[in-house]
Amino acid sequence: MMYNSTRDSSVRVTASQAIAQGISKEGGLFVPDAIPSLTADEIKMLTGIRYSSRAAYILSKYLKDFTCEEIEECTRLAYDTGRFRSFAVAPLHELYSGVNLLELWHGPTCAFKDMALQILPHLMRFSARRTADGKTIIILVATSGDTGKAALEGFRDAENTRILVFYPEEGVSPMQKLQMITQEGNNVAVCGIRGNFDDAQTGVKAIFTHPGIAKRLESNGMMFSSANSINWGRLLPQIVYYISAYCDMISSDKINAGEPVNVVVPTGNFGNILAAFYAREMGLPIARLICASNRNRVLTDFINTGVYDKNRSFHTTTSPSMDILISSNLERLLYALSGRSDTEIRLLMNDLKTKGSYTVSDETAARIKELFRAGWCGDQQTADTIKNVFQKYGYLCDTHTAVAINVYEQYRDISRDDTPTIIVSTANPYKFSASVLDALGGNHADHSNGDEFEKMDKLQRLTGAVIPEPLVSIKGKDSRFMDICNPADMEQAVFEMLHIGRDR
Ligand SMILES: *Cc1c(COP(=O)(O)O)cnc(C)c1O
Repeated sequence: MMYNSTRDSSVRVTASQAIAQGISKEGGLFVPDAIPSLTADEIKMLTGIRYSSRAAYILSKYLKDFTCEEIEECTRLAYDTGRFRSFAVAPLHELYSGVNLLELWHGPTCAFKDMALQILPHLMRFSARRTADGKTIIILVATSGDTGKAALEGFRDAENTRILVFYPEEGVSPMQKLQMITQEGNNVAVCGIRGNFDDAQTGVKAIFTHPGIAKRLESNGMMFSSANSINWGRLLPQIVYYISAYCDMISSDKINAGEPVNVVVPTGNFGNILAAFYAREMGLPIARLICASNRNRVLTDFINTGVYDKNRSFHTTTSPSMDILISSNLERLLYALSGRSDTEIRLLMNDLKTKGSYTVSDETAARIKELFRAGWCGDQQTADTIKNVFQKYGYLCDTHTAVAINVYEQYRDISRDDTPTIIVSTANPYKFSASVLDALGGNHADHSNGDEFEKMDKLQRLTGAVIPEPLVSIKGKDSRFMDICNPADMEQAVFEMLHIGRDR
């Protein structure tokens, strides 16, 4: 198996090259040249083994230039060394009959990004050994809140690697910010930007694909890579948990082998739900993919109309990790659904760049409607959902998960579809204590200025939900990274952080 670029099908690289490079030179995203299949017998076999072994089995279908030993080392180090607080790694929690939450936040930073970012540094290490020619890998990250911390934690003190994270200064939760600015490690740096996630992501992509900057880095023995979901090494480990969840549904007698399930995903950059799409393409019996958005509902509108239009106001919501108007990974879906037409993708992406919008062909729009359903909800409905779910089922969920639950219930009311369902739970509620407290009616004005740790304590007293240890232990850590820059100065910030001076 080789990997092509979505914007130039003649580009052919190995898995290691795709992972080490992160993004193709002309700005396209790497995709496998064929999707491997997963048979009913294989699903049965995977049902009997633990998460890390399921991961190794699935990864080996895609990483053809890795040895089995390398893959097993990666999955073992990521999932079997106590980094996840759940033995199952990605456990299912039955909310009510037929509806299960897939909890993806038991990793060290308490959001689903750990599922991939605990393994990506190991995949990167082997990839770089084969392809990077001894260069130091510079991981550039744009984050809407959770990727940044998860990438910092995954890559801290990794050999031959440095990591720089840009986050929207006013667009992340107080806990997300605390997690990033207190990051430990000798190869890490963090910088806030005066802008939103899209500004950060656009800036990072521009730096990646700027030939002059690449030369400058090369002459200093460095090369860029990405830990965002534009990197195939981020997406691939995310396919695993959908297959794993399906196996767990079988082994807990919630479904019979072969029975279809629906999957609901709170969506921002379209990475998580795209992994579910790939799992479905492999043969996992997923009936419908349900895409849930917050008020920044560009994806909901796109799925329902075939028109992607980012020319709209950007809203800061209580689910900040989904505050995104340019969903990068949609490009991979469009490539797959357009019959791998790089010409079509170049046209669409050029329209997006020049006009801020694009319209897909009727066939592609129809195919999307067949596969996907989409819905959205605002902050008030998100809060109501948190409260209802807690009162009815005694389960405390975060704001992102609440968006997904709300959209699922809207879908079910309209469709009467009672297919067994997996709703993806993407973060622990204590990452968003103020919003969750507000939702439960426990954040009275006199406490709104209280510090983050008081809010966590208050939420715990109110609900009894356990505060994860990594969030408790941030208290008392020093703030190491207080820099803020304008989006236009990101390039300069990179050179300063790398101490290699500015290109003239
Ligand atoms: C990143 C994130 C999302 C969005 O995931 P995408 O892969 O960007 O669609 C949703 N919820 C949480 C908590 C996240 O951190």
